[in-house]
Amino acid sequence: MKLALVASEMVPMVKVGGLADVVGALAGALRGLGHHVTVFIPYYGNFDLSAYSFARRLIPIQVKIGGRDVGVDIYECRLGSGVEVKAFGCPEYFERGKAYTEEPDEPVRFGLFSKATAAFIGQEADRFDIIHCHDWHAALVPFFLKRRMAGGDEGARIPVVLTIHNLAHQGLGDRDIIPVLDLGWDSFTPTGFEFYGKVNLFKAGLLTAQAVTTVSPNYAREILDPQHGAGLEGVLRTLEVPFRGILNGIDETRWDPATDRLIPAAFSADDLKGKETCKAALQKEAGLDVDPAATLMGVVTRLDPQKGIDLITAVMPRLLRSSTQIVILGQGQKEMEERLQMIRQSWKGRVAVTLAFDEPLSHRVYAGSDLFLAPSRFEPCGLGAMIAMKYGALPVVRATGGFVDTVVDADRQLRTGSGFVFESIDPVDFLGASLRAVSYHQGGGTDWKQIQKRVMGRDFSWKSSARKYEALYQEIRG
Ligand code: ADP
Repeated sequence: MKLALVASEMVPMVKVGGLADVVGALAGALRGLGHHVTVFIPYYGNFDLSAYSFARRLIPIQVKIGGRDVGVDIYECRLGSGVEVKAFGCPEYFERGKAYTEEPDEPVRFGLFSKATAAFIGQEADRFDIIHCHDWHAALVPFFLKRRMAGGDEGARIPVVLTIHNLAHQGLGDRDIIPVLDLGWDSFTPTGFEFYGKVNLFKAGLLTAQAVTTVSPNYAREILDPQHGAGLEGVLRTLEVPFRGILNGIDETRWDPATDRLIPAAFSADDLKGKETCKAALQKEAGLDVDPAATLMGVVTRLDPQKGIDLITAVMPRLLRSSTQIVILGQGQKEMEERLQMIRQSWKGRVAVTLAFDEPLSHRVYAGSDLFLAPSRFEPCGLGAMIAMKYGALPVVRATGGFVDTVVDADRQLRTGSGFVFESIDPVDFLGASLRAVSYHQGGGTDWKQIQKRVMGRDFSWKSSARKYEALYQEIRG
């Protein structure tokens, strides 16, 4: 099949969170299955186009925004995997120094991206059999394709899959974006994209896509309820198109401790010696005591209320009474960054904090840690815990979203299970699971090694997930 993936991030070019991992790896996996794959992303001006040999097409696409024609440049390249990438450039809207902003025209930026993508696909329709859009940033693609079809453009009749990576972000805009993006007032109704007086771009996509998926089977169940549906549970419950959860994989060409060049020593389930070297190196690098017996707990995350960092800071004094150390790598909300900065001051030598987005360091944290802490309030998939398991760091997670599909609570003898799970968003509960993990680690000996080996040997590859998407594409293609 000829497949188009449309998203706001993808590795290796631009990454803010797990979405980039998924888009990059899924594209590669689908290519590996023999499909022709093109990925559409915005060009935010924050990576070097020449590093990937992007070439600019002579003729830009013209998109109407606010009644005027805006030119969108098309940069094209082909990655080593054979995946083609089209990056859409429009400095006025896309180049803000980072992918996402808090600015009020955020829905217009990505509305423009979706509109330009739909226009391109409409023009070159015979090049695509399926369009696979990701999150709200690409959600207007099916909407605009439908509009083009209604306007007589038969080429726009291409089935669209819309994947929900995180329903907490929906692309809400004031009603004045309706004329700006030319969305039409006729759909500004409760059964259209109207959402409590606002325009909801995700809703517009969910109502016009030919299939909807999300990134784990459990999150697919959860978002049908008000607690996790973020106001869209009603829309999801009444979808008349296929709706299912397909668990993400991880890209094992990038995330494998046996071949990872970004960590100080290689290791595998069969030979864990290198993990000890990685731990000592991480302790040294982070300014912690180099102590093999201490339990080193790693955190790699966006700093967002979703991730439950407040639970970690709340239990820190108690957690650090045992022989434990914490390494945090995170970037995000200002207040959280400030709070972590203060914590770093008061726990020198026990807690290390790096406020940055640092991919190489993230590899060293996964490789050097004994435990990985992820007390998320909600978690659509939770790649971090999967990567941690692959690197022999056992996850301590809340029983939510994708964690329910990927982490099973260990029994007392560590004979079953793959991590330590707690139920409620309550520091006491989280502390209980963490201390349980610490006591097993410190008293576990060979049992600990056994559970480590078991989780490291699990199959988190993209192969089976890519096959599930492939089956869905076939199904909706008819
Ligand atoms: P989400 O998609 O909600 O951010 P996931 O756990 O599914 O959460 O995916 C997060 C991805 O982003 C992982 O690959 C993780 O290693 C990476 N990541 C998150 N924060 C950072 C950071 N500060 N530095 C480097 N990598 C990070």
